[in-house]
Amino acid sequence: MMPLGGDGRKRIVILGGGFAGVYTAQSLEKALGRRDDFQITIINKVNYFVFQPMLPEVISGSIGMLDTVSPIRRLLPRTQLHVRDVESIDLRGKTVTTSPGFKPHHHVIPYDHLVLALGSVTDFRGLRGLPEHALPFKNLADALHLRNHVIRALEEAAIEESDANLRRQLLTFVVAGGGFSGVEVVAELNDFVRGVVRHYPTIDPKEIRVALLHSQDRILPEMSEKLALFAQQLLQKRGVELRLNTRLEAATGEAAVLAGGEKITTRTLVSTVPSFPHPLVDGLNLPKGKNGRLITSEFLQVEGADSIWAVGDCAQVPAPGGGACPPTAQHATRQAAVAAHNIVAAIRGGERKKFAFGGLGTMGALGHRSAVAQILGMNISGFAAWSLWRTIYLMKLPGWGRRLKVASSWALDLFLPAELVELKLSGSIAITKEHFEPGEEVFHQDDLGDRIYIIVSGEADVIREADTGDRVLARLGPGEYFGEMALLREATRQATVRCVAPMNTLSLAKRDFSLLASYLPGVRDTFQNEMKRRVDSNEQNFSLKAEDSPASTAWSASKGPPAT
Ligand SMILES: Cc1cc2nc3c(=O)[nH]c(=O)nc-3n(C[C@H](O)[C@H](O)[C@H](O)COP(=O)(O)OP(=O)(O)OC[C@H]3O[C@@H](n4cnc5c(N)ncnc54)[C@H](O)[C@@H]3O)c2cc1C
Repeated sequence: MMPLGGDGRKRIVILGGGFAGVYTAQSLEKALGRRDDFQITIINKVNYFVFQPMLPEVISGSIGMLDTVSPIRRLLPRTQLHVRDVESIDLRGKTVTTSPGFKPHHHVIPYDHLVLALGSVTDFRGLRGLPEHALPFKNLADALHLRNHVIRALEEAAIEESDANLRRQLLTFVVAGGGFSGVEVVAELNDFVRGVVRHYPTIDPKEIRVALLHSQDRILPEMSEKLALFAQQLLQKRGVELRLNTRLEAATGEAAVLAGGEKITTRTLVSTVPSFPHPLVDGLNLPKGKNGRLITSEFLQVEGADSIWAVGDCAQVPAPGGGACPPTAQHATRQAAVAAHNIVAAIRGGERKKFAFGGLGTMGALGHRSAVAQILGMNISGFAAWSLWRTIYLMKLPGWGRRLKVASSWALDLFLPAELVELKLSGSIAITKEHFEPGEEVFHQDDLGDRIYIIVSGEADVIREADTGDRVLARLGPGEYFGEMALLREATRQATVRCVAPMNTLSLAKRDFSLLASYLPGVRDTFQNEMKRRVDSNEQNFSLKAEDSPASTAWSASKGPPAT
């Protein structure tokens, strides 16, 4: 695969298209002006930017789900967008490698300056049952999933007459984490379920239970005690059960398990904690703070690394008043502007800027047209804070079109009832059905291994390409599988598989296959033994003389298919 760039311009590659990444690219585009001395590339998992502070509103549907996102291509017309997962970063070779897409092949992107803006991740590893049963709340998919899940729970509860315990579980909603995102999520969720329950005549509103778990003695530790207590009282008045000094220890499909052993029976557990440094950042040999964030100078340069910059939640940036900046959008956007300025200074020469933003304040929405805000030293609460919250976030949304849409959604929301549609999205289907026509390749030799295939009907040839010509190693038919070796060995494909008769396959993605293989030792052993047998047969086959014709080297049925 041809690397991008290579035309003499300096290559600035930004990893992550959140607040930090997009705002860095925006400032770089401005600095580019009429000149053309550098090129900007942004790599992000998705082709849109998510305005995270508004995500909780997706739960209740008070704004449309697409109103919280903006297409990065429209925001950044002069930046190359590369929509892929970053898989690895080679600091020595100054390249970034991204994951396979439709056709699995490498994308290796070289850089002169690398901006790390990967944010943080919600990581439930090490917490019993949370990876399986807790819902994270970080991106648009999480918000949509939670909304659908809550509506599903209400629908199920409405028709559940025989099992009182199940009914209780379905009508209990638990949120863990009393920071900003946890408080905003619980407030929206509470408003939503209590608002729509009147459409469910078989559910008594008194059956609904919404609880917020927080490990400290008051919520919103980022705010003054007075405002936090105001928020607590308001949430309680609206029916949220506050469980302070309470730590979530584990989860099952039917309960949130608290430290000390108490169980809150529920089918909906949202956890906004813990937030972990991004695993890619974690794996880099660069200086990190206790929290795993990359330590930068006040110029946003990662300590000891000239061409590496870090911004946003993955960075530990010194705050002007001492300590480190908190992980908020307002800090991420200001850091982005300073980092962009300093990168341009490094390329063109010029004075660097220090990061000197101390924060404007904090705000948190509490649902029902109320909020708490601490701005420029003032404490504001209730409707006034809510109006301020909405005005500020509205103005921060990228683009006037989006602002207009959100403003009208909010206006209509004052009069119209909440939407109750459960969108049944297919989500991640572990097993995919695929069809291939003769001549089509399933994958190509040297591609990255991303799936394993089982043939349901039809036929395919396994072909080894070499300088001396292509050789058909085997013809595979119904019931046979291929593609396992590249998954088990983390290697590239050993051969090309090409359809010869209309073929239907079932395929399993690498991550699902790895999951099965790691939890079912039998699966791993079976595939490993089979792979060994196939590799041995491969070697025998390749010891055949080069003058053997493709037909004569075709795999004999007794050997089974070759390894792919
Ligand atoms: C529910 C919620 C409410 C919030 N409310 C507020 C608020 O009111 N005020 C405030 O100031 N802050 C708020 N925050 C915090 C704020 O959103 C974050 O501080 C901010 O998003 C950090 O920006 P970032 O760019 O560092 O990270 P992110 O915005 O998380 O962006 C990281 C980007 O990296 C991409 N990425 C990650 N891994 C890969 C990979 N391997 N390959 C490719 N791309 C990758 C992701 O797709 C994402 O686009 C809130 C956060 C949440 C979750």
